[in-house]
Amino acid sequence: MDLNHYFAELRQLVNVDCGTHTLAGVAEVAGIMAGLWREQGWQVDKVDLGPQAGPGLLVTNKPGASQYDVLLVGHLDTVFPEGTVAQRPFSQDDTRAYGPGVSDMKSGLLNILWAIRGLAPEHQQRLSIAVAMNPDEETGSVHSHQWIGELAKRSRVVLVCEAARADGSLVKARKGMAGYHLHFSGVAAHAGNEPEKGRSAITALAQAVLAINALGNPELGTTLNIGVVSGGSAANVVPDSATAELDVRFWDNNEYQRVNSQLSALCQQGFLDEVTTTLKPVNHKPAMAASADTQGLMALVEQAGQQEGVPVTWQAVGGGSDANHTAALGIPTLDGFGPVGAGFHSPAEYLEIASIEPRIRLLRRVIASL
Ligand SMILES: [Zn+2]
Repeated sequence: MDLNHYFAELRQLVNVDCGTHTLAGVAEVAGIMAGLWREQGWQVDKVDLGPQAGPGLLVTNKPGASQYDVLLVGHLDTVFPEGTVAQRPFSQDDTRAYGPGVSDMKSGLLNILWAIRGLAPEHQQRLSIAVAMNPDEETGSVHSHQWIGELAKRSRVVLVCEAARADGSLVKARKGMAGYHLHFSGVAAHAGNEPEKGRSAITALAQAVLAINALGNPELGTTLNIGVVSGGSAANVVPDSATAELDVRFWDNNEYQRVNSQLSALCQQGFLDEVTTTLKPVNHKPAMAASADTQGLMALVEQAGQQEGVPVTWQAVGGGSDANHTAALGIPTLDGFGPVGAGFHSPAEYLEIASIEPRIRLLRRVIASL
């Protein structure tokens, strides 16, 4: 394959600030991908997902199909704020490429395109293939998961093309996650003159942090992390307001049910007299576990790997992706079909150049084997 051609396309995609909330940047990336797919002769439809998200893209070789043999999924957005591209644009050395979203997941979007570019005409004819690219994966696919879910229900299998892990592993399971915002509302008072009239929202928050941490079950992999707190106005004021942001992770969806109900009960009961606590769920991704059907798909991928000389290993990972949503619908779903990379969501993000071509071949072989 022509790696220079690949890198020219990748550079163009990486050098656009396209954090989920930078809607114009996400739309620009969608425009670039739409153009590349139209050159391929495939049908491209822009999908309106509401004013708070950029556009989605639906690409297919069989316009009007009611069922798809495979749904390939990737996201257009990154986690990086505006200005990141100016600070550290696309670059490469002998072994790796760098830049915001280079492996999470601009190269994944490209690997889908390149797998299809080399897919034999007989398979392009035989198979009904859809590619869904969403604009808001990095903030939980709040505006797109329903759309992707509807497409998944009409598909035999779903292949999510997030990067393969640093050791080359594909992803067979992902933890579920649930996010919450907590607000503590107390009574303000002068800390010197009449502290007894105050009810400290921050003291309630402090109690809450410990009680909430205790809901975890490390043996089952259930963890709770309060990652952001704020509150108060001045050191000499008993604070009447405080907030916290909570992230919950779990392998087992029953654990989510347990934590959710215990958390609700704790907050309803409150953590300090006369300080009320409100709990607001902000997002939820079910855990992705390998069903019997998924194990059949894993066997097919392993065979494709043998045929292409690409070793296939699997990992279960803590981070979520759109694979969580489609797996929870009962559709066999596997993830990690992009090239190898790591350091996601940080300036250390990189793409392993030597993995690009073999991972394109692997994905192409998997599709051809369906
Ligand atoms: Zn990603």
